[in-house]
Amino acid sequence: MPEYAFIGRSNVGKSSLINMITGKKGLAMTSSKPGKTQLINHFIINDSWYLVDLPGYGYAQRGKEGRENIRRIIEDYILEREQLTNLFVLLDCRLEAQKIDLEFMEWLGENGIPFSIVFTKIDKLGGGKLREKLNAYTKKLLESWEELPPILLTSSEKKEGKEELLNYIDEITKSL
Ligand code: GDP
Repeated sequence: MPEYAFIGRSNVGKSSLINMITGKKGLAMTSSKPGKTQLINHFIINDSWYLVDLPGYGYAQRGKEGRENIRRIIEDYILEREQLTNLFVLLDCRLEAQKIDLEFMEWLGENGIPFSIVFTKIDKLGGGKLREKLNAYTKKLLESWEELPPILLTSSEKKEGKEELLNYIDEITKSL
């Protein structure tokens, strides 16, 4: 089954988004590799794909060695997992473009990994302000990318963007 992985900096709203998608109920959970149970979690969605929860990156409290270790585990999964179909990079819509996120997306590009951007917490910004932030972000991306990746907008708080995300994944799955 295809795998769709979710990743982002700590506190970006990944757990909330995953809870929104899985609905917490009626899901099966398996770990991909022994010993990595808490680091990479798989959730079966609709019997048709796996949602893969990757660890948050750049988490200061882990210390340098901890961060390097997590980074290696994330990179190994992304580069070696044949089932990985698309990666969703979560970005907090309120924040300016962060170096760590931009570098991570560049690394994905260099390695030919298909990814989409999910802006989280859109309930925190009003319509005009949200558009302004997204415009600034996409402008920044276009400094190093020829074209923009697909962009999705979500609010786990207001349960927004769930159907769009599920439909988006279904479309990719159907095309495989
Ligand atoms: P993670 O560290 O990326 O897993 O982030 P969490 O899902 O734990 O969320 C971090 C914080 O952001 C928590 O306080 C959440 O309640 C809050 N949060 C997450 N998603 C949303 C959202 O869509 N809207 C709002 N307003 N807050 C959110």
